[in-house]
Amino acid sequence: MHTEPTTIVIIGAGQAGGWAARTLRDEGFDGRVVLIGDESHPPYERPPLSKAVLAGEVAPESVHLLDAAAMAAMSVEWLASARVVNLDRTAKQVMLADGRAIGYDKLILCTGGRARELDVPGAGLPGVHTLRTIDDARRLGPVLQRDAHVAVVGGGWIGLEVAATARQRGAEVTVIETMGRLCERSLPEAMSAHLHAMHAAKGVEVLLGAAVASFAPRTTGGLDVVLSDGRSITCDAAVVGIGLVPNDELARAAGLDCEGGVLVDAQCRTTDPDIFAAGDVAVTPNSWAGRRLRLESWQNAQEQGIAAVRSALGRDVHYDPLPWFWSDQHGTNVQIYGVPSPTHEVVVRGDPAAGSFVFFYLEGERVMAALGGNAARELRFARRLIEKRTQVRAQDLADPGVSLAKL
Ligand SMILES: Cc1cc2nc3c(=O)[nH]c(=O)nc-3n(C[C@H](O)[C@H](O)[C@H](O)COP(=O)(O)OP(=O)(O)OC[C@H]3O[C@@H](n4cnc5c(N)ncnc54)[C@H](O)[C@@H]3O)c2cc1C
Repeated sequence: MHTEPTTIVIIGAGQAGGWAARTLRDEGFDGRVVLIGDESHPPYERPPLSKAVLAGEVAPESVHLLDAAAMAAMSVEWLASARVVNLDRTAKQVMLADGRAIGYDKLILCTGGRARELDVPGAGLPGVHTLRTIDDARRLGPVLQRDAHVAVVGGGWIGLEVAATARQRGAEVTVIETMGRLCERSLPEAMSAHLHAMHAAKGVEVLLGAAVASFAPRTTGGLDVVLSDGRSITCDAAVVGIGLVPNDELARAAGLDCEGGVLVDAQCRTTDPDIFAAGDVAVTPNSWAGRRLRLESWQNAQEQGIAAVRSALGRDVHYDPLPWFWSDQHGTNVQIYGVPSPTHEVVVRGDPAAGSFVFFYLEGERVMAALGGNAARELRFARRLIEKRTQVRAQDLADPGVSLAKL
């Protein structure tokens, strides 16, 4: 017989942690819930930080997922600005930096990740920013003024969103990317080219194949971003968006299996049956990709936070989501379902130059992935084609006259 745990501790009060806490009560768990986060903020959603918050359109507090009162009403013990420094699996307790020890029956790791830093001279200068937290957005926001020059290091999702928002606010923007195209790790070539054209049309300068060698302060204020080929870009501030480092150190030190994040199974369980992981820190088997994935997305943080808790409570869980990610840049909403691969046949529907389009990625007559711009409705149908493994003909997908709903 399954006996319910009496204390469930969640480490990391971000999006996955917030959903984990809420779900415990939604599932009727009436034991002790402790949510430990090293930020001073209650759990919040990060996507608006590079968009509406950075644009100054909404207050940073608007991103909160739960506030202190809501957590108190749910009898969730939220420990703010509290860092877990050790996980003792034998004693089944976590130690906080201030010396407190908290015992658990089940533990959920939702420690997310931190912005990767550039290991070059000058990376610690005050004008060099990263963007992961509300506090980062508060520091960066005032810098993105009209006529300021901002250098964005990294042409991935965060970098491109910051570039678009900075441009929207009237700043001059230069994106510096080491690879040969934008979002090379996550996007097929055609989509990279589309993003590049979109940014160029909005006046963003994009330097490809360019590596930063150092940052140097200027006596007149601002800094120079020095490239390895000797070029130098003078700017008021630089924003480094070169990916994420998963916060898996606690798990590693406690002897849990990790490989670029904490390894979990489809029940979100780590190699310790009483410890679960969810969100950006978790590496999960994914049948849609045919391999393990560490998903860095809003959808995954929420759904895996929920799944991990249900699993910890002994519910029947098989977590295997079709990956979904979106981004907003220069008024274009980009969405990706599934995991496009270079081996897929590519079919285009609509006209990328006209702004609304879908790229389908096929294996034989099955859609394996789809991505597009300003095509939310069509992409919702594309998602159903992928999930239902519908057999389709490439010419029907390419023909806007053929309704995807009918397919
Ligand atoms: C600027 C930005 C824009 C984004 N835009 C999009 C988007 O458009 N679409 C999309 O799908 N996704 C987007 N994402 C990704 C999405 O926000 C993340 O995937 C999601 O936040 C992951 O949630 P998480 O709870 O796993 O991790 P996090 O939100 O990182 O939360 C983890 C928390 O744990 C804390 N923590 C870590 N270690 C400890 C410890 N030892 N003790 C206590 N606390 C600890 C951390 O400080 C943090 O507060 C964006 C992310 C960023 C940063």
